[in-house]
Amino acid sequence: MTFYITTPLYYVNDLPHIGSAYPTIACDFIAGHKVQSGHKVAFLTGTDEHGQKIEKSAKENSKKPQDHCDSVVSAFKDLWQLLEIKNTHYVRTSAHEHKEYVTEFFNKVKAKGDIYKGEYKGLYCVSCEDFKLEKDLEENENGELCCPIHKIPVDEYSQENYFFALSKYEDKLKDYIEKNPDFISPSYRKNEVLGWLEEGLKDFPISRVGLNWGIDIPGDSDQKIYVWFDALLGYHSGLAESLKDYWVNEDESSAHGVAPVTHIIGKDILRFHAVYWPAMLMSAGMPLPEKVFGHGFLTKDGMKMGKTLGNVVDPVELTQEFGSDSVRFFFMREFPFGRDGDYSRLAMINRLNTDLANNLGNLLNRSTNLMRKYFSNSDLTELIENAQKLVSNSENDLAKVINSFSDKFRSEMAEINIFQALDSIFFCLSEANTEMSNIAPWTLLKNASEDDKETIQLAFNCLYLNLEACRRAAICLAALTPNLSKSILVQLALLDDEHDISDRYSLLENEFSFSKLNELLSVQELNTILSSKSKPVFERIADKEAV
Ligand SMILES: [Zn+2]
Repeated sequence: MTFYITTPLYYVNDLPHIGSAYPTIACDFIAGHKVQSGHKVAFLTGTDEHGQKIEKSAKENSKKPQDHCDSVVSAFKDLWQLLEIKNTHYVRTSAHEHKEYVTEFFNKVKAKGDIYKGEYKGLYCVSCEDFKLEKDLEENENGELCCPIHKIPVDEYSQENYFFALSKYEDKLKDYIEKNPDFISPSYRKNEVLGWLEEGLKDFPISRVGLNWGIDIPGDSDQKIYVWFDALLGYHSGLAESLKDYWVNEDESSAHGVAPVTHIIGKDILRFHAVYWPAMLMSAGMPLPEKVFGHGFLTKDGMKMGKTLGNVVDPVELTQEFGSDSVRFFFMREFPFGRDGDYSRLAMINRLNTDLANNLGNLLNRSTNLMRKYFSNSDLTELIENAQKLVSNSENDLAKVINSFSDKFRSEMAEINIFQALDSIFFCLSEANTEMSNIAPWTLLKNASEDDKETIQLAFNCLYLNLEACRRAAICLAALTPNLSKSILVQLALLDDEHDISDRYSLLENEFSFSKLNELLSVQELNTILSSKSKPVFERIADKEAV
């Protein structure tokens, strides 16, 4: 089965910020997760490089628009490398191939009779690159009407433009949303879209005059294609030849069908992805994406981030300090992806210490050390057979949790409930830690006589279950924290330390594949673990304020 996931195409008016890293990390995690599940995956990110705002930013930096875009794009690519993002495709809307695709698409929709020329009068926010209704605007202290998102006055806009016949698709779109209840996720975003459809859809202009930096309307070079109509098509042009494998079934009967495509977007650009884009696809006779997921926004220390407030989190500095696994983990684990979430340095350190250093790292370290201390010279065959039976048959509560959490993890991931998915892993690890304190295998083993087989088996079972919990957690986390997961599998004698993880998809297809989940640790592996040395897989972060 194929699976195609996209980040938004980031606007290159400025350097990448944590708000761009956030959905990209999520997409990378979901894409890797799908590879583990046996899907053939395409993962696209890219940059939206046209429009008035870019032209302005370039001018302010005394650069040509293309040079300005090139330098910002290289900063994006550097950040993705630093965060170990493994996108399979990258699209730039200033690329020649993209312009050709947009022209071709425009002509197709025009031939369908869905593009016409008309007069547009209205209010426009340059920062949103979107039209506004007076009822949605705020007044500033000078009595000017302002965009509620950007707090800047909107422009009076009156032009002869080309229009797209959006209204024609209102009923078809309603019908699609009804038939595909998970199309717009989470459900509270769907209600927003249903509200817009209730108000009724109006045709919208898809061209601009007086703009230099953009794609010409075919046959009318005075007009440039509206930046959103242009950028959305990057999801197609960026796939190039693979478009037919991941999206388009040439068969006419597939029109208005569902393509296995997921768009991850910020909640502020929902209208473009859940209304304009599906209508454009219907007009072109192409299948619609399976899912549009609108994520929440990030704040810092409870406050909105902004340049003027001087509290912007720099993703480069953050990753250089904590490492890519830690940054990726924190933003996926700390708050639900669909809701707004808060970053603070202390929350980050506490989260990493609690989950990765203690619940996971320390559990693994203590369990392997105790095994080494008490079982290095034992014949493990019978002990392991009994422990394996305990796990396979879910003979105690912890074994039940170990056997069920990965299914819960996978079903939550299928719904992009990333927070809940990760929670199921750490619920299991926390149960294992509690069980370890209750059983206290170190005391049992210290006091048990050699022929007290029952006590020795009880202690062994506890340690073996812990290793199984850690092994399965490492597999589930592999698409999010590949370096940590690798360290765990190396320590469990399941992976060679020399193994190169830069080709992560091959690792996720094989050693980290979900088909490995039920292959219990064997006598041979345990013997290797007991004969080698280990060090903690995640060092606790020392910080005077941390708990
Ligand atoms: Zn705005």
